[in-house]
Amino acid sequence: MSEVTRATFDEVMVPNYQPAPIIPVRGQGSRLWDQQGREYVDFAGGIAVTVLGHAHPKMVAALTEQAGRLWHVSNVMTNEPALRLAQRLVALTFAERVFFCNSGAEANEAAFKLARRWGNTRFGPHKNTILSFHNAFHGRTLFTVSVGGQPKYTQGFEPLPGGIRHLPFNDADALAAAMNDTVCAVVMEPVQGEGGVMPATAEFARAVRALCDKHQALLIYDEVQTGNGRTGTLFAYEQFGIVPDVLTTAKGLGGGFPIGAMLTTRSLAEVLAFGTHGSTYGGNPLACAVAAAVLDEVSNPALLRNVAERSAQLRAGLDVLSARYGLFGPARGMGLLLGAPVAEAWKGRAKDIVNAALAEGLWLLVAGPDVLRFAPALNITEADVSEGLARLERVCAALAAPREAANA
Ligand code: PMP
Repeated sequence: MSEVTRATFDEVMVPNYQPAPIIPVRGQGSRLWDQQGREYVDFAGGIAVTVLGHAHPKMVAALTEQAGRLWHVSNVMTNEPALRLAQRLVALTFAERVFFCNSGAEANEAAFKLARRWGNTRFGPHKNTILSFHNAFHGRTLFTVSVGGQPKYTQGFEPLPGGIRHLPFNDADALAAAMNDTVCAVVMEPVQGEGGVMPATAEFARAVRALCDKHQALLIYDEVQTGNGRTGTLFAYEQFGIVPDVLTTAKGLGGGFPIGAMLTTRSLAEVLAFGTHGSTYGGNPLACAVAAAVLDEVSNPALLRNVAERSAQLRAGLDVLSARYGLFGPARGMGLLLGAPVAEAWKGRAKDIVNAALAEGLWLLVAGPDVLRFAPALNITEADVSEGLARLERVCAALAAPREAANA
Protein backbone atom coordinates (compact mmCIF):
# COMPACT_ATOMS: atom_id res chain seq x y z
CA MET A 1 0.00 0.00 0.00
CA SER A 2 1.28 3.48 -0.82
CA GLU A 3 2.32 5.94 1.84
CA VAL A 4 -0.44 8.13 3.29
CA THR A 5 0.17 11.83 3.74
CA ARG A 6 -2.01 14.88 4.22
CA ALA A 7 -2.28 15.08 0.38
CA THR A 8 -3.95 11.64 0.31
CA PHE A 9 -7.00 13.21 1.92
CA ASP A 10 -7.95 15.04 -1.28
CA GLU A 11 -7.67 11.82 -3.30
CA VAL A 12 -9.87 9.56 -1.19
CA MET A 13 -11.99 11.53 1.28
CA VAL A 14 -15.27 13.39 0.92
CA PRO A 15 -14.56 16.94 2.07
CA ASN A 16 -15.65 17.43 5.66
CA TYR A 17 -13.40 19.17 8.17
CA GLN A 18 -10.40 20.80 6.55
CA PRO A 19 -7.54 18.69 7.90
CA ALA A 20 -4.52 20.23 9.63
CA PRO A 21 -1.19 19.98 7.79
CA ILE A 22 0.10 17.22 10.08
CA ILE A 23 -1.08 13.67 10.82
CA PRO A 24 -0.66 12.60 14.44
CA VAL A 25 0.20 8.93 14.87
CA ARG A 26 0.72 8.59 18.62
CA GLY A 27 -0.38 10.29 21.83
CA GLN A 28 0.60 10.08 25.47
CA GLY A 29 -0.95 12.30 28.13
CA SER A 30 -1.00 15.84 26.75
CA ARG A 31 1.62 15.20 24.06
CA LEU A 32 1.18 14.06 20.46
CA TRP A 33 3.66 12.90 17.82
CA ASP A 34 3.23 13.18 14.06
CA GLN A 35 4.40 10.95 11.21
CA GLN A 36 7.80 12.66 11.23
CA GLY A 37 8.22 12.09 14.97
CA ARG A 38 7.68 15.77 15.79
CA GLU A 39 6.16 16.32 19.22
CA TYR A 40 3.25 18.67 20.10
CA VAL A 41 1.66 19.94 23.30
CA ASP A 42 -2.04 19.19 22.92
CA PHE A 43 -4.12 22.20 23.99
CA ALA A 44 -7.06 21.06 21.82
CA GLY A 45 -8.01 17.81 23.48
CA GLY A 46 -9.69 16.64 20.28
CA ILE A 47 -12.24 19.47 20.82
CA ALA A 48 -12.88 18.86 24.51
CA VAL A 49 -12.91 15.08 23.97
CA THR A 50 -9.73 13.59 25.40
CA VAL A 51 -10.50 14.60 28.98
CA LEU A 52 -7.89 12.18 30.36
CA GLY A 53 -5.32 12.83 27.64
CA HIS A 54 -4.03 10.16 25.28
CA ALA A 55 -3.51 6.48 26.15
CA HIS A 56 -4.65 6.83 29.76
CA PRO A 57 -3.88 3.44 31.37
CA LYS A 58 -7.34 3.09 32.95
CA MET A 59 -9.04 3.68 29.59
CA VAL A 60 -6.70 1.28 27.81
CA ALA A 61 -7.31 -1.36 30.50
CA ALA A 62 -11.10 -0.93 30.40
CA LEU A 63 -11.15 -1.16 26.61
CA THR A 64 -8.86 -4.16 26.27
CA GLU A 65 -10.55 -6.05 29.12
CA GLN A 66 -13.99 -5.53 27.55
CA ALA A 67 -12.66 -6.20 24.04
CA GLY A 68 -11.64 -9.68 25.12
CA ARG A 69 -14.99 -10.33 26.79
CA LEU A 70 -17.92 -9.03 24.70
CA TRP A 71 -18.27 -6.39 21.95
CA HIS A 72 -21.81 -6.56 20.76
CA VAL A 73 -24.79 -8.85 20.91
CA SER A 74 -27.91 -7.00 19.96
CA ASN A 75 -29.61 -3.78 20.86
CA VAL A 76 -32.58 -5.85 22.07
CA MET A 77 -30.33 -7.35 24.74
CA THR A 78 -28.94 -4.99 27.34
CA ASN A 79 -25.44 -5.43 28.76
CA GLU A 80 -23.62 -5.02 32.07
CA PRO A 81 -21.30 -2.09 31.14
CA ALA A 82 -24.29 -0.05 29.89
CA LEU A 83 -26.28 -0.69 33.06
CA ARG A 84 -23.30 0.15 35.27
CA LEU A 85 -22.57 3.37 33.38
CA ALA A 86 -26.22 4.44 33.52
CA GLN A 87 -26.31 3.73 37.27
CA ARG A 88 -23.24 5.93 37.76
CA LEU A 89 -24.66 8.78 35.68
CA VAL A 90 -27.93 8.63 37.61
CA ALA A 91 -26.03 8.64 40.92
CA LEU A 92 -23.88 11.62 39.92
CA THR A 93 -26.47 13.91 38.28
CA PHE A 94 -30.09 15.10 38.44
CA ALA A 95 -31.00 12.37 35.98
CA GLU A 96 -33.12 9.32 36.68
CA ARG A 97 -33.05 7.80 33.19
CA VAL A 98 -30.35 7.52 30.53
CA PHE A 99 -30.41 6.89 26.76
CA PHE A 100 -27.15 5.91 25.07
CA CYS A 101 -26.13 6.69 21.51
CA ASN A 102 -22.87 7.31 19.65
CA SER A 103 -22.34 11.05 19.24
CA GLY A 104 -23.35 14.50 20.36
CA ALA A 105 -25.65 15.03 17.41
CA GLU A 106 -27.48 11.80 18.17
CA ALA A 107 -27.85 12.74 21.83
CA ASN A 108 -29.39 16.07 20.80
CA GLU A 109 -31.57 14.42 18.18
CA ALA A 110 -32.92 12.18 20.97
CA ALA A 111 -33.49 15.19 23.24
CA PHE A 112 -35.38 17.10 20.53
CA LYS A 113 -37.49 14.07 19.67
CA LEU A 114 -38.28 13.56 23.35
CA ALA A 115 -39.29 17.22 23.72
CA ARG A 116 -41.51 17.13 20.62
CA ARG A 117 -43.20 13.92 21.70
CA TRP A 118 -43.69 15.28 25.21
CA GLY A 119 -45.29 18.47 23.90
CA ASN A 120 -47.42 16.78 21.27
CA THR A 121 -48.67 13.93 23.45
CA ARG A 122 -49.08 15.67 26.81
CA PHE A 123 -50.43 19.02 25.61
CA GLY A 124 -51.77 18.50 22.08
CA PRO A 125 -50.36 19.06 18.62
CA HIS A 126 -49.68 22.77 19.06
CA LYS A 127 -46.79 22.45 21.53
CA ASN A 128 -43.71 21.55 19.49
CA THR A 129 -41.62 24.68 18.84
CA ILE A 130 -37.96 24.48 19.86
CA LEU A 131 -36.20 27.69 20.84
CA SER A 132 -32.47 27.95 20.32
CA PHE A 133 -29.89 30.73 20.23
CA HIS A 134 -27.78 32.53 17.67
CA ASN A 135 -24.32 30.96 17.32
CA ALA A 136 -25.50 27.74 18.94
CA PHE A 137 -24.13 24.42 17.73
CA HIS A 138 -25.88 21.10 18.32
CA GLY A 139 -24.55 18.76 15.63
CA ARG A 140 -24.65 18.06 11.90
CA THR A 141 -27.71 15.91 11.32
CA LEU A 142 -30.34 17.80 9.38
CA PHE A 143 -32.43 18.49 12.47
CA THR A 144 -29.62 19.30 14.90
CA VAL A 145 -27.88 21.53 12.37
CA SER A 146 -31.17 23.37 11.91
CA VAL A 147 -31.54 23.86 15.66
CA GLY A 148 -27.99 25.25 15.73
CA GLY A 149 -27.97 28.94 15.04
CA GLN A 150 -25.24 29.33 12.44
CA PRO A 151 -26.39 29.76 8.82
CA LYS A 152 -22.94 28.78 7.50
CA TYR A 153 -23.71 25.19 8.53
CA THR A 154 -27.21 25.07 7.01
CA GLN A 155 -26.61 26.79 3.66
CA GLY A 156 -27.53 24.59 0.74
CA PHE A 157 -29.28 21.97 2.88
CA GLU A 158 -32.76 23.49 2.51
CA PRO A 159 -35.57 22.80 2.98
CA LEU A 160 -34.75 22.75 6.69
CA PRO A 161 -37.13 21.23 9.22
CA GLY A 162 -39.52 23.75 10.76
CA GLY A 163 -40.72 24.52 14.26
CA ILE A 164 -37.42 26.07 15.34
CA ARG A 165 -36.70 29.69 16.33
CA HIS A 166 -33.40 31.40 17.12
CA LEU A 167 -32.93 34.18 19.65
CA PRO A 168 -30.01 36.28 20.86
CA PHE A 169 -27.90 34.45 23.46
CA ASN A 170 -27.68 35.85 27.00
CA ASP A 171 -30.75 38.02 26.38
CA ALA A 172 -33.47 37.10 28.87
CA ASP A 173 -35.83 39.82 27.60
CA ALA A 174 -35.74 38.44 24.05
CA LEU A 175 -36.51 34.97 25.39
CA ALA A 176 -39.33 36.27 27.59
CA ALA A 177 -40.86 37.96 24.54
CA ALA A 178 -40.58 34.81 22.41
CA MET A 179 -41.93 32.37 24.99
CA ASN A 180 -45.47 31.12 24.57
CA ASP A 181 -47.48 27.96 24.98
CA THR A 182 -46.37 26.50 21.65
CA VAL A 183 -42.80 26.16 22.91
CA CYS A 184 -41.96 22.61 23.96
CA ALA A 185 -38.27 23.21 24.71
CA VAL A 186 -35.46 25.70 25.01
CA VAL A 187 -32.01 24.31 24.24
CA MET A 188 -28.77 25.98 25.29
CA GLU A 189 -25.08 25.33 25.71
CA PRO A 190 -23.79 26.54 29.12
CA VAL A 191 -20.77 27.80 27.20
CA GLN A 192 -21.30 28.17 23.45
CA GLY A 193 -18.33 26.22 22.12
CA GLU A 194 -18.34 26.35 18.32
CA GLY A 195 -19.95 29.78 18.56
CA GLY A 196 -16.73 31.22 20.00
CA VAL A 197 -16.40 30.05 23.64
CA MET A 198 -19.16 32.33 24.92
CA PRO A 199 -20.34 31.48 28.44
CA ALA A 200 -23.94 31.98 29.49
CA THR A 201 -24.22 34.35 32.41
CA ALA A 202 -25.60 32.83 35.62
CA GLU A 203 -28.46 35.39 35.54
CA PHE A 204 -29.38 34.34 32.01
CA ALA A 205 -29.21 30.64 32.93
CA ARG A 206 -31.55 31.23 35.87
CA ALA A 207 -33.91 33.37 33.77
CA VAL A 208 -34.12 30.62 31.13
CA ARG A 209 -35.02 28.09 33.81
CA ALA A 210 -37.70 30.38 35.24
CA LEU A 211 -39.20 31.09 31.80
CA CYS A 212 -39.29 27.39 30.96
CA ASP A 213 -41.12 26.73 34.24
CA LYS A 214 -43.57 29.56 33.61
CA HIS A 215 -44.47 28.34 30.12
CA GLN A 216 -44.22 24.61 30.80
CA ALA A 217 -41.35 24.12 28.39
CA LEU A 218 -38.46 21.70 28.81
CA LEU A 219 -34.98 23.05 29.41
CA ILE A 220 -32.40 21.06 27.43
CA TYR A 221 -28.74 21.55 28.29
CA ASP A 222 -26.35 20.59 25.53
CA GLU A 223 -23.28 19.68 27.56
CA VAL A 224 -21.57 17.83 24.73
CA GLN A 225 -18.63 20.22 24.99
CA THR A 226 -18.97 21.44 28.61
CA GLY A 227 -19.69 18.13 30.33
CA ASN A 228 -17.56 15.54 32.05
CA GLY A 229 -15.53 17.89 34.23
CA ARG A 230 -14.55 20.30 31.47
CA THR A 231 -15.78 23.42 33.32
CA GLY A 232 -14.60 22.34 36.78
CA THR A 233 -17.78 20.56 37.90
CA LEU A 234 -18.97 17.26 36.49
CA PHE A 235 -21.57 19.18 34.46
CA ALA A 236 -21.72 22.94 34.01
CA TYR A 237 -25.36 23.31 35.09
CA GLU A 238 -24.20 22.73 38.67
CA GLN A 239 -22.45 26.11 38.60
CA PHE A 240 -25.62 28.01 37.70
CA GLY A 241 -27.63 26.62 40.60
CA ILE A 242 -30.31 25.26 38.28
CA VAL A 243 -31.26 21.82 37.02
CA PRO A 244 -32.24 21.12 33.40
CA ASP A 245 -34.94 18.65 32.38
CA VAL A 246 -32.79 17.00 29.75
CA LEU A 247 -29.02 16.97 29.37
CA THR A 248 -26.99 15.73 26.45
CA THR A 249 -23.38 14.63 26.66
CA ALA A 250 -20.84 12.99 24.33
CA LYS A 251 -17.21 13.98 23.54
CA GLY A 252 -15.56 13.76 27.00
CA LEU A 253 -17.97 11.04 28.11
CA GLY A 254 -15.91 8.45 26.25
CA GLY A 255 -12.60 10.31 26.51
CA GLY A 256 -12.11 9.63 22.77
CA PHE A 257 -14.20 6.49 22.34
CA PRO A 258 -17.45 7.35 20.48
CA ILE A 259 -20.44 7.50 22.82
CA GLY A 260 -23.26 9.94 23.52
CA ALA A 261 -26.00 10.04 26.11
CA MET A 262 -29.23 11.82 26.85
CA LEU A 263 -30.05 12.16 30.54
CA THR A 264 -33.52 12.97 31.79
CA THR A 265 -36.08 12.41 34.51
CA ARG A 266 -38.24 9.37 35.07
CA SER A 267 -41.47 11.09 34.11
CA LEU A 268 -40.05 12.50 30.86
CA ALA A 269 -38.54 9.15 29.93
CA GLU A 270 -42.06 7.72 30.05
CA VAL A 271 -42.87 9.77 26.95
CA LEU A 272 -40.83 7.25 24.99
CA ALA A 273 -42.07 3.67 24.84
CA PHE A 274 -40.22 0.56 23.72
CA GLY A 275 -39.60 0.89 19.98
CA THR A 276 -40.04 4.67 19.68
CA HIS A 277 -36.35 5.54 19.49
CA GLY A 278 -33.06 3.66 19.31
CA SER A 279 -29.66 3.03 17.77
CA THR A 280 -27.82 -0.18 16.84
CA TYR A 281 -24.62 0.71 18.66
CA GLY A 282 -26.07 2.93 21.38
CA GLY A 283 -24.92 1.59 24.73
CA ASN A 284 -22.53 -0.96 23.26
CA PRO A 285 -20.36 -2.72 25.83
CA LEU A 286 -17.02 -1.37 24.56
CA ALA A 287 -18.04 2.29 24.64
CA CYS A 288 -19.78 1.94 28.00
CA ALA A 289 -16.84 0.14 29.63
CA VAL A 290 -14.48 2.92 28.54
CA ALA A 291 -16.93 5.66 29.55
CA ALA A 292 -17.35 4.13 33.00
CA ALA A 293 -13.57 4.24 33.49
CA VAL A 294 -13.50 7.86 32.30
CA LEU A 295 -16.39 8.85 34.56
CA ASP A 296 -14.64 7.37 37.59
CA GLU A 297 -11.68 9.65 36.91
CA VAL A 298 -13.50 12.85 35.96
CA SER A 299 -15.82 12.69 38.95
CA ASN A 300 -12.80 12.50 41.26
CA PRO A 301 -12.50 15.76 43.26
CA ALA A 302 -8.71 15.73 42.76
CA LEU A 303 -9.16 15.90 38.98
CA LEU A 304 -11.77 18.65 39.26
CA ARG A 305 -9.34 20.59 41.46
CA ASN A 306 -6.73 20.23 38.74
CA VAL A 307 -9.21 21.72 36.27
CA ALA A 308 -9.60 24.81 38.47
CA GLU A 309 -5.85 25.17 39.05
CA ARG A 310 -4.78 24.61 35.45
CA SER A 311 -7.60 26.88 34.27
CA ALA A 312 -6.28 29.70 36.47
CA GLN A 313 -2.72 29.04 35.27
CA LEU A 314 -3.70 28.95 31.60
CA ARG A 315 -5.97 31.99 31.83
CA ALA A 316 -3.28 34.02 33.62
CA GLY A 317 -0.66 32.97 31.08
CA LEU A 318 -2.93 33.85 28.16
CA ASP A 319 -3.72 37.24 29.68
CA VAL A 320 0.01 37.99 30.05
CA LEU A 321 0.55 37.13 26.37
CA SER A 322 -2.53 39.14 25.42
CA ALA A 323 -1.21 42.23 27.22
CA ARG A 324 2.36 41.77 25.96
CA TYR A 325 1.68 41.08 22.26
CA GLY A 326 -1.92 42.00 21.55
CA LEU A 327 -2.30 39.10 19.10
CA PHE A 328 -5.46 38.10 20.97
CA GLY A 329 -7.65 39.59 23.68
CA PRO A 330 -8.16 38.39 27.26
CA ALA A 331 -9.41 34.84 27.78
CA ARG A 332 -13.01 33.94 28.62
CA GLY A 333 -14.77 30.68 29.37
CA MET A 334 -15.14 28.22 32.22
CA GLY A 335 -12.63 25.73 33.59
CA LEU A 336 -10.55 24.23 30.81
CA LEU A 337 -12.75 25.53 28.02
CA LEU A 338 -11.19 28.91 27.31
CA GLY A 339 -11.30 31.21 24.31
CA ALA A 340 -9.30 34.28 23.36
CA PRO A 341 -10.60 36.48 20.50
CA VAL A 342 -7.95 37.32 17.91
CA ALA A 343 -6.95 40.97 17.39
CA GLU A 344 -8.75 43.05 14.78
CA ALA A 345 -5.80 42.74 12.36
CA TRP A 346 -6.14 38.93 12.49
CA LYS A 347 -9.91 38.75 11.96
CA GLY A 348 -10.73 35.92 9.58
CA ARG A 349 -7.20 34.52 9.92
CA ALA A 350 -7.35 32.69 13.25
CA LYS A 351 -6.48 29.52 11.37
CA ASP A 352 -3.13 31.07 10.34
CA ILE A 353 -2.31 31.51 14.04
CA VAL A 354 -3.26 27.89 14.69
CA ASN A 355 -0.99 26.74 11.86
CA ALA A 356 1.85 28.92 13.16
CA ALA A 357 1.34 27.30 16.58
CA LEU A 358 1.53 23.84 15.00
CA ALA A 359 4.88 24.79 13.51
CA GLU A 360 6.02 25.66 17.06
CA GLY A 361 4.79 22.31 18.42
CA LEU A 362 1.47 23.43 19.90
CA TRP A 363 -1.96 22.17 18.90
CA LEU A 364 -4.75 24.75 19.30
CA LEU A 365 -8.25 25.10 17.89
CA VAL A 366 -10.31 27.83 16.31
CA ALA A 367 -13.82 28.49 17.64
CA GLY A 368 -16.22 30.65 15.70
CA PRO A 369 -14.41 32.57 13.00
CA ASP A 370 -12.11 34.56 15.22
CA VAL A 371 -11.45 32.91 18.56
CA LEU A 372 -8.53 30.76 19.66
CA ARG A 373 -9.89 27.89 21.73
CA PHE A 374 -8.07 26.03 24.48
CA ALA A 375 -9.54 22.71 25.68
CA PRO A 376 -6.67 20.58 26.96
CA ALA A 377 -6.98 17.32 28.86
CA LEU A 378 -8.36 17.83 32.37
CA ASN A 379 -5.36 16.05 33.88
CA ILE A 380 -2.84 18.21 32.05
CA THR A 381 0.15 18.94 34.27
CA GLU A 382 1.40 22.32 35.40
CA ALA A 383 4.58 21.68 33.40
CA ASP A 384 2.66 20.93 30.20
CA VAL A 385 0.56 24.10 30.55
CA SER A 386 3.79 26.10 31.04
CA GLU A 387 5.41 24.46 28.03
CA GLY A 388 2.36 25.12 25.85
CA LEU A 389 2.32 28.76 26.94
CA ALA A 390 6.05 29.08 26.19
CA ARG A 391 5.44 27.75 22.67
CA LEU A 392 2.49 30.12 22.29
CA GLU A 393 4.72 33.02 23.32
CA ARG A 394 7.11 32.11 20.47
CA VAL A 395 4.13 32.22 18.09
CA CYS A 396 3.09 35.63 19.44
CA ALA A 397 6.64 36.95 19.16
CA ALA A 398 6.89 35.77 15.54
CA LEU A 399 3.52 37.22 14.50
CA ALA A 400 3.25 40.39 16.62
CA ALA A 401 5.98 42.65 18.00
CA PRO A 402 5.90 42.91 21.80
CA ARG A 403 4.10 46.06 22.89
CA GLU A 404 7.01 47.14 25.12
CA ALA A 405 9.32 46.99 22.07
CA ALA A 406 6.80 48.79 19.91
CA ASN A 407 6.56 51.57 22.47
CA ALA A 408 10.31 51.87 23.01
N1 PMP B 1 -23.20 19.88 20.65
C1 PMP B 1 -22.12 20.63 20.90
C2 PMP B 1 -22.21 21.70 21.94
C3 PMP B 1 -20.92 20.40 20.23
O1 PMP B 1 -19.85 21.16 20.48
C4 PMP B 1 -20.86 19.36 19.26
C5 PMP B 1 -19.60 19.04 18.48
N2 PMP B 1 -18.72 20.08 18.27
C6 PMP B 1 -22.01 18.61 19.03
C7 PMP B 1 -23.15 18.89 19.74
C8 PMP B 1 -22.03 17.48 18.03
O2 PMP B 1 -21.31 16.40 18.49
P1 PMP B 1 -20.88 15.23 17.49
O3 PMP B 1 -19.86 15.81 16.56
O4 PMP B 1 -20.33 14.15 18.38
O5 PMP B 1 -22.10 14.81 16.77
